[in-house]
Amino acid sequence: MGAGILVGLLLRNLFPESLFVKDYLTEGLFNVIGAIFISSLKMLVVPLVFVSLVCGTSSLSDPSKLGRLGGKTIAFYLFTTAIALSVAILLAVIIHPGSASLASSTMEFSVKEAPSLSEVIINIVPDNPVQAMTQGNMLQIILFAVIFGFAISHIGERGERVARFFNDLNEVIMRVVTLVMQLAPYGVFALMAKLSLTLGLETFGSVVKYFLLVVLVLLIQALIVYPTLLKVFSGLSPFMFLRKIRDVQLFAFSTASSNATLPVTIETSEHRMGVDNKIASFTLPLGATINMDGTAIMQGVATVFIAQVFGIDLSLTDYAMVVITATLASIGTAGVPGVGLIMLAMVLNQVGLPVEGIALIIGVDRLLDMIRTAVNVTGDTVATVVIAKSENAFNEDVFNDSQAGKAAT
Ligand code: ASP
Repeated sequence: MGAGILVGLLLRNLFPESLFVKDYLTEGLFNVIGAIFISSLKMLVVPLVFVSLVCGTSSLSDPSKLGRLGGKTIAFYLFTTAIALSVAILLAVIIHPGSASLASSTMEFSVKEAPSLSEVIINIVPDNPVQAMTQGNMLQIILFAVIFGFAISHIGERGERVARFFNDLNEVIMRVVTLVMQLAPYGVFALMAKLSLTLGLETFGSVVKYFLLVVLVLLIQALIVYPTLLKVFSGLSPFMFLRKIRDVQLFAFSTASSNATLPVTIETSEHRMGVDNKIASFTLPLGATINMDGTAIMQGVATVFIAQVFGIDLSLTDYAMVVITATLASIGTAGVPGVGLIMLAMVLNQVGLPVEGIALIIGVDRLLDMIRTAVNVTGDTVATVVIAKSENAFNEDVFNDSQAGKAAT
């Protein structure tokens, strides 16, 4: 990663006008290697989530266990998102990053229609599971896999045969994950080189305060809030956690996609942290889809920032509205690059703020997207570890062994 950034910056500064660098490196070599790397991660997501979740649920024969696991997971996810948003809004109000001089009448931003809440709910049920898989619709895949795995556990011996088949298949897919990971150093290098060749410092300009504030709150969430929650709820060592989560964060940072990072998140949680497959296979895909604390932080700070820039005073009820809609917006944000910004339009609309404000911050969003995605996946993993520990589906020896699972990743 460091080498990629360095090479990109050097090329950018040494050959600012070079067409060779632009056409053959930025848009050529680096682009191709980076895109192949991201595609090969994405290639694994749907089979991995489906097979792994079928394995997990087929071993949970008691429906009340499944209900309890679902309830606990969603409650924990909402809780961390609420903390993230409260810190974000509080600091944005105190630090006041937006000044009215930034507003300009030429700002334009066309809004993509955000789905309504009822649409979101109806859409959880797939009318065609194969289509859900081809489109990578995560909530639909999760629901289908849970029902499928549940049915397997209820048909006795024949079900056990199917479960064994799925367990073997899971091993095969995990092996493919390990193979794809070997591409990682080249992929990350290429992605970073391309990024530092295309992103200039000038994009930051006037919104540098906004940028720094979002980064600050993201760091607070990753380095203070999560470690504290881990310690309080599970008594585990935050240092070991932070050490083992690094690879996952790095993948999330380079791909800016919680979904594309899923293979690494699942692999790390199971083999390096000691989480049982039946928990990880359920909580992590769900988290990559609905738990976006980093995204909520950006949306919280951005909303207050845009209100300040346009000189609009927000009341206490408005802030409460921001918390509610940003929580929903972060749940509705898909784990792919850049969607958080589109969902921000929904929050702004709901609070009655000008959506064109998004034009102000769009320039720095690429980098923020990468950092917030790293926070998003850290949040999913903390919840997974806490829940696994509380369900006694956790191997503490693996967690405490700094070398555990290292060979695999
Ligand atoms: N890129 C983020 C993720 O995948 C979502 C977003 O905030 O745009 O987690």
